[in-house]
Amino acid sequence: MDPIRIAVVGMGKIARDQHLPAIAGDRAFSLAATVSPHDPGVPGVPHLESLERLLDEGPAINAVALCTPPQVRYELAAMALKRGVHVFLEKPPGATLAEVSALEARADKVGASLFAAWHSRFASGVAPARAWLAERIVQSVAITWREDVRVWHPGQAWIWEPGGLGVFDPGINALSIATHILPRPFFLKEALLEIPANKAAPIAADLRFCDTSGARIHMDLDWRQTGPQSWDIAVETDAGVLKLTHGGAVLVLPSGTEHGEDHEYPGLYARFATLIRTGRSDVDVAPLRLVADAFLRGRRQETEPFID
Ligand code: NAP
Repeated sequence: MDPIRIAVVGMGKIARDQHLPAIAGDRAFSLAATVSPHDPGVPGVPHLESLERLLDEGPAINAVALCTPPQVRYELAAMALKRGVHVFLEKPPGATLAEVSALEARADKVGASLFAAWHSRFASGVAPARAWLAERIVQSVAITWREDVRVWHPGQAWIWEPGGLGVFDPGINALSIATHILPRPFFLKEALLEIPANKAAPIAADLRFCDTSGARIHMDLDWRQTGPQSWDIAVETDAGVLKLTHGGAVLVLPSGTEHGEDHEYPGLYARFATLIRTGRSDVDVAPLRLVADAFLRGRRQETEPFID
């Protein structure tokens, strides 16, 4: 079978750190081109400064991976789908829920695959955590996602703009895990969003959710964490506490600890290849919906200006 000719669009941090190595390591794909307005691309691979030019002038492609900031993703995805090109959307899948649902309808209409990728769901502890929790009664959940924005997002102006999500850019990863492993749907009861006086997006947030059986879920997001970083989820159940740490890579069960291999992006590309080969899409907006609800229902509190 011929490899899927894919173009990586938006040659920033995640494209270089994860997408290019995952594509290079997957025989289902071949890197046909890269697209980015300012980046020089990679040696030996055609590079264009816009997706429009790539689609008009070639080389021919079957798929794109959109690794841009979310605010420009809809236009790029719509342009690709119009030509019947399969689309991999980095997380979050869009800047609004309505635009993602418009893309889903368009993909369906043209018979192309649309994949809303949630990389944290492919962290090694997540699938076994989901299987373990399926048999348990969840009593409460504590999510702690505290990191240093200066370390992880230096100079990323878009992340502080409307649609950039602020601290929910990493926080949505926690929600992508929680919506996947918890056996019942959950929804927001109250939230406090701390927004620097000079920014449009929150630097910290405290959220309280409840699941459909009344179990409480507390989420603590903070971008001002220096020193040790925390990407942890603890679930209290009738059979003891389950902990996922290191963003889902380490699973601690009452019976012991499991450390898995990092295969988040290889896992995403394997899934994307399967979707394309079987003519399907996978567009779960549950994590984005919870973030949208936080902006809809949360109380905003101004906090001190943030200087990068
Ligand atoms: P980034 O380093 O700022 O890179 C984004 C790139 O998008 C920029 O380099 C920019 O290219 C390019 N771009 C902007 N507008 C474009 C357009 N219209 N057409 C083509 N390219 C365009 O951001 P990032 O950290 O890689 O994050 C990108 C996305 O990946 C975000 O949604 C983020 O949530 C997600 N993500 C990031 C990480 C991470 O660890 N950083 C992890 C997982 C997921 P030029 O430089 O050429 O202008």
